[in-house]
Amino acid sequence: MKAYQVVENGKPLEKKEVDTPIPTGKEILLKTVSCGVCHSDVHIHDGYFDLGADMKLPMPLAEPLTMGHEIFGEVVAIGDEVSSVNIGERYVAYPWIGCGNCDLCNSDKTHYCLNNSNLGINVSGGYGDHVLVPAEKYLFDAGDTPHSLAGSYACRGLTAFSALKKAAPFDQNGSLVIVSAGGLGLLALKIARAAYDINPIVIDIDDEKLKVAKNLGAVEIINSSNEGAAEKLMEITNGGANAIVDFVGAEASVNLGYQSLAKGGTLVVVGLFGGQITIPLPLLTLTEKKILGSYVGSLGEMRELMKLVSNGKIEPVEVESRNVSEANRTLKEMKNGDLQGLVSLTHD
Ligand SMILES: [Zn+2]
Ligand SMILES: [Zn+2]
Repeated sequence: MKAYQVVENGKPLEKKEVDTPIPTGKEILLKTVSCGVCHSDVHIHDGYFDLGADMKLPMPLAEPLTMGHEIFGEVVAIGDEVSSVNIGERYVAYPWIGCGNCDLCNSDKTHYCLNNSNLGINVSGGYGDHVLVPAEKYLFDAGDTPHSLAGSYACRGLTAFSALKKAAPFDQNGSLVIVSAGGLGLLALKIARAAYDINPIVIDIDDEKLKVAKNLGAVEIINSSNEGAAEKLMEITNGGANAIVDFVGAEASVNLGYQSLAKGGTLVVVGLFGGQITIPLPLLTLTEKKILGSYVGSLGEMRELMKLVSNGKIEPVEVESRNVSEANRTLKEMKNGDLQGLVSLTHD
C-alpha cells in the first residue's frame, strides 16, 4: 500500500510503499475513500504546539507517521471475530482509541487514555490508502453524507459537538457565541442548528467568512478586529454571553471571550492557535465564569453525533477534495491560514 508519511518534523511528507496490514481477530481493514486534513495535522507535522511566551509543547516523532485521523473508508478485509461489519460497507472510523483496560477506557473516556493508539496520530491513518481499525465498535455509518465530508465528523465534527455539549444549554437564538467562521466554526453552526435548534452569534476577523456564516443562519455576526466589537457583543447579548465556544484559541480571542461572558457563563476553548492569558483570580471567583478546554470527544458522543449525521439532520458543509499527492501543499496552506473551508484527500 502507499502512504504519505511524516519522516522528519516540519519537512515535506514522503510517499512510501509499506506493507498492507492483514486484519486478525476483531480488526477491520479499510480502504481509504477520503481523509480530512485537520488543523491538528499541522501541529503533528511540525512536532509541537505553541504555548506562547516563546514556549513550545513538543510532540516529537518516534518513527515515521502516516497522519490522517478523519477517515472514511470501505471495508476490504475483516478478522475472524468481526460479526456486524461486512466487506464493501463504508464507514467513518472513530480514531481516539485507548488501551481498553484502564479506568478511563472503562468509563467512555478512551480519548483521555494515556496509552492510546489514535489513528493517524500514534498509529497509521488515512494519508495511507488502507487503514487498520482495531474493532467494529469504532466504525459508524454516515448515511448519505458526501464522502469528502464524512470522515471529518470523527474529529472536527466531534470536536464541535462535544464543545457545544459542554457549553449547553442554549435557550434561544443568540444564546451561543461561536468564535470562528472558518471550516470548524461553520460546522459547529450547522451542528448547533441540528442538535439544539438555535442560531448562534458568530465572531471572526474576516468579513468574507462572516458573510458566509450569516448566509448559513448566524443570527448576528461581529468582526472582532473592528473597534467596539466587545461592546457590540455585550449589547446583543444583553450584558454578557452565557455560552461561548472559541474555535481559534488565540490570546486575543480568548481574552475577548472571557471578558464578554455573563456571570456564571461558560467559555469553551477548542482552538489550538496558542498563547497565554492572565486572569485576575478574585474576578474569577466573584463572577463564577467557567473556562473549559475541550479536545475531540468520547465514543458515546460520537455515537450521538453520528445518529444525527446518518439521519441526515446536519446540513453538509462544503469540502474541497484533493488528491493525497497534494497533502504537502494543503498542510502549508492550512498553516498559513489560506484555506477557506474543509479539505479532504483521496487516493484515486
Ligand atoms: Zn486506556
Ligand atoms: Zn483533528
